[in-house]
Amino acid sequence: MDEKQEPGKVNGITRRGFIAAASALAMASTTGGWLRSASAAGSIELPRLPYPENALEPVISAKTIGFHYGKHHQGYVTNANKLIAGTDLQDMPLEKIVQATAGKADKAGIFNNAAQVWNHTFYWKSLSPKGGGKPPAALLKKMEASFGSLDSCLKELASAAATQFGSGWAWLVQAGDALKVVKTPNAENPMTQGMKPLLTIDVWEHAYYLDYQNRRPDYVAAVLDKLVNWEFAAENFAKA
Ligand code: FE
Repeated sequence: MDEKQEPGKVNGITRRGFIAAASALAMASTTGGWLRSASAAGSIELPRLPYPENALEPVISAKTIGFHYGKHHQGYVTNANKLIAGTDLQDMPLEKIVQATAGKADKAGIFNNAAQVWNHTFYWKSLSPKGGGKPPAALLKKMEASFGSLDSCLKELASAAATQFGSGWAWLVQAGDALKVVKTPNAENPMTQGMKPLLTIDVWEHAYYLDYQNRRPDYVAAVLDKLVNWEFAAENFAKA
């Protein structure tokens, strides 16, 4: 303990305050975890990153993930919670908020922030330190039926990601009976148009600029080669 520590204080917190904080933490662990408690000001939470910040190196640096997750994703969570506070959207599940505000000009701020929370959570899961390679058999078969081959599907994804003008996302989706590749601008999400997302790649500059500067196609190629999480896409496909 610090020699200057005041009596009755632990790291500047009074003992009473410390006990209150400790019991709040204990309660949080029985009601869904610390993150739920940490974002108690609103119903939208910043989910845990599924891997350490440096786990995607060398394709995506820890520095990029640190900003992307810790500043951008967190920022969307904070803004979305502020914007829904006191409205009828306050206690809705995130996906419902996205659906309820899509295409509504007077709800654009809420949509943009809520959809960006959803999109980023989905993006982290779309990547894996052990990604790349071949998709599981059932998904691969469907990809071959829809695109002709895995390679054609990868080319379409790479092209969609490279050609999305400005900020946005490239997606592998299930649309009716087939798989498709689509791209969306800004915070848009294909689920608002009745499609089921299986996988996404963030092509906002904040996703790659520190590591690749203006070379977006190199970032996309490396992600598709080394990080893309086919297991996650296959889980979503199985639920579609
Ligand atoms: Fe992003």
